[in-house]
Amino acid sequence: MTQKWDVVIIGGGLAGLVAANYLTRNNLSILVLEKNKNVGGRARTDHIRQQYFNLGPHALYKKGKAKSILEELNIQLSGKSPKIGGILVENQLEYIAPLSPLGLLTSNFLSWKERIEWAKVLMKVMSIDNEKVVLQTYERWVQQTTRSENVQSLLYLLGRLATYCHSPNKVSAKVMLIHLKAALNGVLYLDKGWQTIIDQLHNNSVVSGIQFQTRKNVKQIVPIEQDHIKIVLSDGEVIVGKNVLCTVEPKELNQMLGEKSPFSQSDSFTKMESVKGSTLDVALTQLPNPKKVFAMGIVDPLYFSVHSNNALLSDDAKSIVLHVFKYQSPTDNKEWKKVKCELEQFLEKIQPGWKSYVITSRFIPQITVNQRLPQVGDEQMLQCSKNKIPGLYIAGDWASPYSILSEGAVTSGKQAAEEIIKKEKS
Ligand SMILES: Cc1cc2nc3c(=O)[nH]c(=O)nc-3n(C[C@H](O)[C@H](O)[C@H](O)COP(=O)(O)OP(=O)(O)OC[C@H]3O[C@@H](n4cnc5c(N)ncnc54)[C@H](O)[C@@H]3O)c2cc1C
Repeated sequence: MTQKWDVVIIGGGLAGLVAANYLTRNNLSILVLEKNKNVGGRARTDHIRQQYFNLGPHALYKKGKAKSILEELNIQLSGKSPKIGGILVENQLEYIAPLSPLGLLTSNFLSWKERIEWAKVLMKVMSIDNEKVVLQTYERWVQQTTRSENVQSLLYLLGRLATYCHSPNKVSAKVMLIHLKAALNGVLYLDKGWQTIIDQLHNNSVVSGIQFQTRKNVKQIVPIEQDHIKIVLSDGEVIVGKNVLCTVEPKELNQMLGEKSPFSQSDSFTKMESVKGSTLDVALTQLPNPKKVFAMGIVDPLYFSVHSNNALLSDDAKSIVLHVFKYQSPTDNKEWKKVKCELEQFLEKIQPGWKSYVITSRFIPQITVNQRLPQVGDEQMLQCSKNKIPGLYIAGDWASPYSILSEGAVTSGKQAAEEIIKKEKS
């Protein structure tokens, strides 16, 4: 006899684990299926040679929805906020970043006229009515907002920092501005990395009786009669759920549903682009230049930040853990050796001689930061994909129209859980 579960969650990343935590205390039988050896997905942290490496730079918005939902679930978040500031780099030149009040006064990047313009633009970002830009791309909004090329570059740079999106001509201005506002309110770097969030969510679920099965690769989702859904694993095992919450990427979900997928007709759903980047994660015994802890390229889409300056990220509490990152656009050069060199050279510019102090480092040539590049019109497309199959729910960082990254994963996980609870109670 195949056991029938009230809820089967496919994927043990942030979205799946948040949903699992909300579903507890409802007297439902719940199973989480995860294809990897461990849960965590892209929010996991690797412990390598006593250093805690998130998968690339991870920062939690201090006033974002994800943080308040995690706190609602009693997740302890320990860590500190980096100061907004640092330096901006273009060719061989360095400028003080005009991202804080002091930076604005002292930066040599902007003329006095541009500084006033920049201050006004920042105030506009904080007070803008997002509904007014719902039909615009970010590029359009930036061009309408300021004529100054330097101020435009700052808006593109801050947009990349806040969202990892590097396609201003495609991305939705509304999504960019929502996240930009959140980022300007500060972020948190977490002690021992984002694994601490995953571990707490996982432990709470296990204690509440939720079952986890790892190394279970779901291949097929087949709706069957009587409001039940059959799940077929790659080894042929069959699992049946009354409600199924799927948190995998959209293309994989489409494949799981096969020819009968109600989403395969929707071009935007199958052709959804993702947000990608390359990361160089580095641990050093010391920083050659301890004064430089944050830098971004003005034209080159590059990022550098010393995360251990604001979070405990090594067992000895002394090592330096930093991330160098390249924001990718779909048309980018995919010669990974060159990309690695570019990241190393950027680090060399800011921290000359860093290679002498390396404890460990790793280069990930291409990683998906967000499963959906948020574009104008996504809301309708996502709305249409809802409730197509009774009992099938969707969550993940791509599934919320106006939230991406952990904001999207956590809010959609909570929302799907609430919808399941409502259905089960009705
Ligand atoms: C380099 C980088 C930097 C980032 N920085 C930030 C940041 O600063 N701030 C921020 O808020 N967010 C950041 N993010 C984004 C954040 O990590 C993700 O949005 C979030 O972790 C996604 O969670 P998820 O549950 O939607 O997806 P995932 O974490 O991908 O979880 C999906 C899970 O499903 C499992 N799965 C997939 N297919 C199957 C299958 N067939 N069967 C069973 N299981 C399956 C996967 O193994 C995975 O565990 C960053 C991400 C990256 C990669």
